[in-house]
Amino acid sequence: MPLDSFGRDIHYLRISLTDKCNMRCVYCMAEDMVFQPSAELMSTAEILRLVNLFAQLGIDKIRLTGGEPTVHPDLIPIVRGIRAAGISRVSLTTNGARLTQLAKPLKEAGLERVNVSVDTLDPDKFQRITRWGKLDEVMSGINAAEAHGLTPIKINAVVARGYNDEEVAGLAALTLTHPWQVRYIEMMPFGDVAKFAQDAVVSQAEIRQRIEHALGPLELIDDGRLDGEARLFRLKGALAPIGFISTITNPFCASCGRARLTADGKLRLCLLRDDEGDLLTPLRRGASDVELEASIRNLIWRKPWGHGLPEGVIPLQRVMSQIGG
Ligand code: SAM
Ligand code: SF4
Repeated sequence: MPLDSFGRDIHYLRISLTDKCNMRCVYCMAEDMVFQPSAELMSTAEILRLVNLFAQLGIDKIRLTGGEPTVHPDLIPIVRGIRAAGISRVSLTTNGARLTQLAKPLKEAGLERVNVSVDTLDPDKFQRITRWGKLDEVMSGINAAEAHGLTPIKINAVVARGYNDEEVAGLAALTLTHPWQVRYIEMMPFGDVAKFAQDAVVSQAEIRQRIEHALGPLELIDDGRLDGEARLFRLKGALAPIGFISTITNPFCASCGRARLTADGKLRLCLLRDDEGDLLTPLRRGASDVELEASIRNLIWRKPWGHGLPEGVIPLQRVMSQIGG
C-alpha cells in the first residue's frame, strides 16, 4: 500500500466520474452551476488506465461518486473495468434517482453496494433541498438496490437549517423498519456554497438530541470506535445503526486512508484542502506507467495531516460535486 509521510496507508480511492448532476442540492451547487467541458474530463479509457495503476500500487477499495455518477454513460463498463483490475470492493455514492433502472446491471457488473443520499422523507422538502429531485424516484431506487443485493444500504443525510432540520428523526426511524444504516453528514463549507453551509449548519449534538427526543436513547456501538468515517449508535430494537460523520466537530484525519481522483484527473489528498496534483495532463502527454506511478506515490506522500477548518482555511477552488464527495 502507498504510505503518506505520517505513516497512514492510503488504500481507498474515491473517483468522481463527472461533475454533472441531475439534481441541484442547495448545499452542494448553485442552480445555474456551470460544468466543465467534457474534453477536460477523463475519458473511460483514461479512468481505467489510472485505476489499473492504483490497483498495482495497492489501492483495494474504490468508491465511484461525482457529481452524479449514474449520469455517466459508461458507468457499467467502468465498474466492470475496476473489477477486471483486481479491485473487488467497488461501491457507489448516488442520489438514487436512476437506481431503479441501474441496480440490476450494476450488480451484474460487480458493484458491491450503494450509499444513497436522502435528506428528508417529506416529498416537498426533498424537492426544496434538492431543487430538481423527486423523492418517490429515489425511494424506488433504494428498493431496487436492495432487491438486487447492493447491500448493506447506507443512507446519507445532510441537515440544513430551515430545510430539513425538523425531520431528522423521520430518517432515523427508517432504521427501525429497514436494515439501512442512516448516517448524518456534517455540512461542510466549499467555494461558492461556503457561506450557505456555514449559516445553515446544524450541529451533530442537535441532530442527536432531536432523534433521542422523538425515538428514545441512542446506544453507542463499539465504544465509539470509528466505522470508516462514522461513529455508530443504535436505537433500541433497530435493524441497522445510525452514524454520525462529524468531519468538522470530530475529525477522523488520524485514520484517514483516502485519496480522491477528480473527474478532471487531479489527485486530491484531503477533501477539505485545495492542494491537488495533476495526473491527466502527463497521461495525455504520453507519460509511461512508471512515471505516472511515481507521481501518484509522490502525491500520496504529500497528503496533509488534516484539514484546516478550525484555523479558518476553507477549500475555495471547488465545491463537493467537483471533488467527489
Ligand atoms: N450525487 C451523489 C450524491 O448526492 O450522493 C454523489 C456526489 S455528492 C457530492 C456526495 C455526498 O456529498 C452526498 O451525500 C451529499 O449530500 C454530500 N454533500 C454535498 N455537499 C456537501 C456539503 N457542502 N457538506 C457536506 N456534504 C455534502
Ligand atoms: Fe448532485 Fe449529489 Fe451534489 Fe446533490 S449532493 S447536487 S445529488 S452531486
